[in-house]
Amino acid sequence: MLEIRNIHKSFGSTPVLGGIDLDVKQGDVIAIIGPSGSGKTTLLRCLNYLEHADEGTMVFDQETFAMNKISKKDIARLRKKTAFVFQSYNLFANKTALKNVTEGLIVGRKMPKEQAREIAMKALEKVGLADRSDAYPAQLSGGQQQRVAIARAIAAQPEIIYFDEPTSALDPELTGEVLSVMRSLANEGMTMIVVTHEMSFAKNVSNKVILMENGRIVEQGPSKEFFANPKEERTKAFLQSFD
Ligand code: ATP
Repeated sequence: MLEIRNIHKSFGSTPVLGGIDLDVKQGDVIAIIGPSGSGKTTLLRCLNYLEHADEGTMVFDQETFAMNKISKKDIARLRKKTAFVFQSYNLFANKTALKNVTEGLIVGRKMPKEQAREIAMKALEKVGLADRSDAYPAQLSGGQQQRVAIARAIAAQPEIIYFDEPTSALDPELTGEVLSVMRSLANEGMTMIVVTHEMSFAKNVSNKVILMENGRIVEQGPSKEFFANPKEERTKAFLQSFD
């Protein structure tokens, strides 16, 4: 479904990604883990062209795109197949939960209002917030706001959802409700790439794990194998730091 080859990215003279390859199959839930500053977020942002890489290619549904140069039209086309969930939710403060979810459908996809509302309510239901559709972000907890952001992603009916540390802005007691929504999405077969510090998610929900350090992939593999039998010393040390 998605093949990434040789992504390089520097900020000024600082190299941040040093040649990343990534293969994503439909239904994959890939956890990207690694120490702070290893390039995880930058990689994810490059995949959705929120950052432009310096080098590399992407093949999405058999169509090849350069990572460093792409037309606005192609970005728009690609983003119809993807959704991005940010660490900081990125909701419109002056719009209700429902409006936050319908906005992209009505404005971006030119969908009739009634149809957008129907899809949005279903998405809010999925994240357990149908009864809060009229609430504004400030009236919702951080966990609820992130669930609205996930509803917005679901409503776009993407082929893949990118999650950038979706629970790291949350108090620990609110993390569980967001992870449980993500788990049910995974169980429904949604393809997801998740940058996370939540080892329990990586271990129990994702089917593949990638450990990054210094802009490179240290080790990757099926989750069970990765956690039960890490091959690299660096992986062992990293996992031990969570014990
Ligand atoms: P964390 O787990 O702390 O979020 P990360 O693995 O996601 O870290 P990135 O956020 O991708 O790491 O950052 C990788 C490196 O790139 C860091 O050294 C960071 O300071 C640098 N960086 C990220 N964004 C920019 C930017 N817009 N301009 C300059 N440097 C940046």
